[in-house]
Amino acid sequence: MQQLTHYLNGAHVNGTSGRFADVMNPATGEVQAQVPLASTAEVDKAVELAAAAQPAWAATNPQRRARVLMKFVDLLNRDMDKLAEALSREHGKTLPDAKGDVQRGLEVVEYCIGAPHLLKGEFTDSAGPGIDMYSMRQALGVTAGITPFNFPAMIPMWMFAPAIACGNAFILKPSERDPSVPLMLNELMEEAGLPPGILQVVNGDKEAVDALLHHPVVQSIGFVGSTPIAEYIYSTGCANGKRVQCFGGAKNHMIIMPDADMDQAADALVGAGYGAAGERCMAISVAVPVGDETADRLIEKLVPRIEKLKVGPYTAGNDVDYGPIVTAAAKANIERLVQTGIDQGAELVVDGRNFKLQGYEDGFFVGPHLFDRATPDMDIYQQEIFGPVLTTVRAQTYEEAIGLAMDHEYGNGTAIFTRDGDTARDFANRINIGMVGINVPIPVPLAYHTFGGWKKSVFGDLNQHGPDAFKFYTRTKTVTARWPSGIKEGGEFSIPVME
Ligand code: NAD
Repeated sequence: MQQLTHYLNGAHVNGTSGRFADVMNPATGEVQAQVPLASTAEVDKAVELAAAAQPAWAATNPQRRARVLMKFVDLLNRDMDKLAEALSREHGKTLPDAKGDVQRGLEVVEYCIGAPHLLKGEFTDSAGPGIDMYSMRQALGVTAGITPFNFPAMIPMWMFAPAIACGNAFILKPSERDPSVPLMLNELMEEAGLPPGILQVVNGDKEAVDALLHHPVVQSIGFVGSTPIAEYIYSTGCANGKRVQCFGGAKNHMIIMPDADMDQAADALVGAGYGAAGERCMAISVAVPVGDETADRLIEKLVPRIEKLKVGPYTAGNDVDYGPIVTAAAKANIERLVQTGIDQGAELVVDGRNFKLQGYEDGFFVGPHLFDRATPDMDIYQQEIFGPVLTTVRAQTYEEAIGLAMDHEYGNGTAIFTRDGDTARDFANRINIGMVGINVPIPVPLAYHTFGGWKKSVFGDLNQHGPDAFKFYTRTKTVTARWPSGIKEGGEFSIPVME
């Protein structure tokens, strides 16, 4: 059995807490590795090492720091296949999807190579007699991030690339379900020239997270995961005086107007609803066709497409549209919610229950499900299912459709499919959701824009990547300077104002 490690100060380090978690192969249901779960003492050690290494890194000029990221991009491309394979083996997603996971992280690393420009301060010459005023962005010190299982390459990179580009040390606590890729990323960063201690991986569970949340030296916490944990981490981190940004769960609606291209809408829904087995925070889980006639046309187009979906292990290559669910517990939760949908009266149009794959009977596979005529009071509508289950809620008007999305507690992403510019524009302006697609089902912004939801999908005020990341990982200092030639004789006793 493979024994995974932590990664501290430039080396793999065995866990010493005596606690371990099983890392599963979701396609076979077998335990394939064990990951150590760090104790508070192990987290304290990582913080101590990070604090010792960080000042020299912050003093390294930003262009040299950026060069490490440049080299890291080359290494990611060199090892793309290896990373994708390790990712698929623990997560279960298909190889092309795993490569996309690495690629969308890599794009943020590329953005962070612009650190020398992005970190430039502001300067006002002659703000007063002989006075210059300037601001600079300085690193926070030791920063930390806690990441979910569903993007084990992309989300760690979204956090550590800007943190490190800004001159911080970063401690990553990845998901205990798929910890291999984060460890590999740490190795590659050091091969790219990052000094030991600047990026470290501490594997673990709540104990490690709590140790980071309470450690006085840790200046900021980034979190991505489910909403209840996001809320906990935000309130605990803030109470301990840290800068915190937390991104939580989702229930993304796609509105289909009567004038939409129905083939395009159906294709988009199948990809966005069932890709990665629905285990994406930007998956579409609710379809809202406007008018019964639109709904009937949509369902007619959807059903054959969904029934054709190929579910299997990543090793089957291009023959697979999506893989297994990450754990047996997550699979059981999806099955429980599907049952509530049936019990509460939604119409199960495509029934993925009892899906079995020959040779993989113990894998955590779930067949695709499609519900029609669900209503907003049902659990399948209110809760995040995080599985291959698309729920249709029929609306009679555009106002009713937009109202559904607006009233839902989550606000991560949403989409509208229409040919009408007025409707699309009105939707983009009025909707209270952070990321909006117009005829685009998964509107994940590119690296140089920012990523973040609204409502219960986010806690904190700065988004991930783009310019917000450089704000989150730095603090501003403003200097007012006057040299002797500009100083008047005699003291000043009232508040200085510029005349
Ligand atoms: P999760 O909340 O179970 O775990 C996320 C992280 O928190 C992991 O590192 C885990 O070890 C840690 N954790 C779990 N329980 C904890 C506890 N009690 N105390 C402290 N730490 C704890 O989430 P997950 O199942 O790994 O990921 C799926 C969730 O993440 C979904 O809800 C999905 O929508 C969300 N997600 C959101 C975004 C976004 O940007 N909004 C992106 C990806 C995933």
